[in-house]
Amino acid sequence: MTVPILVYHHIAAVGSSVPFRSLFVHPKRFASQMRWLKKLGYQGLSVRDAIPYIKGEKTGKVAVLTFDDGFLNVLENAAPVLAECGFTATNYFVANQIGGSNIWDKAIGIPEMACMSVTQMREWAALGHEVGAHTLDHVNLNDTPDEEARRQISESKSRLEDMLGAEVPHFCYPYGANNQTHRLMAREAGFQTAVTTIAARAKPNDDPFGIPRIYIRRNHTLPEFLYRVYFR
Ligand SMILES: [Zn+2]
Repeated sequence: MTVPILVYHHIAAVGSSVPFRSLFVHPKRFASQMRWLKKLGYQGLSVRDAIPYIKGEKTGKVAVLTFDDGFLNVLENAAPVLAECGFTATNYFVANQIGGSNIWDKAIGIPEMACMSVTQMREWAALGHEVGAHTLDHVNLNDTPDEEARRQISESKSRLEDMLGAEVPHFCYPYGANNQTHRLMAREAGFQTAVTTIAARAKPNDDPFGIPRIYIRRNHTLPEFLYRVYFR
């Protein structure tokens, strides 16, 4: 069995001149997507909750829900409909920007957006959702010397665990950028999985440190969304 792991970033409205606006899914559109999943018998699950399905130990109609970067708009605009549907999700946090913002996006002109604070991250976890790790500073690991890459991966885990008071076993490579050395570093840091932006459904024989995901973008209509969940 294969499992669709969906990727979102912002759940928020966006102005027409914003670069990379495809990363912003409107709250109403997101709510409609979640309600359709529910209506069609899908269970939306965090990576943590979906591991038995990803590994092929369990079968079922499952869509894994992931968000990158730990944005506050996900807590504000996605959490209510996730609760309504009884779904769980994973958000991958940038450890040094808890209570900060997406300063790594500044150079490419994406507006400054708030990341969840420690309190808000704990609130996200208390709702039954998962806190994942996304390095310390949202670095592109392929442009980072090995020693620093190792620190970015392993310290993101320990810092988030300290803030959360719970284990953080799942990791996401910023920009999807990774190589075999980074996959080994993630394993050695104690992570159980790491997700990429390779566009495919997850299969049981995938490398657990190179798991593919499917992008959901701002302009995806409902048929496009459902096509991605069912067939992509
Ligand atoms: Zn990211």
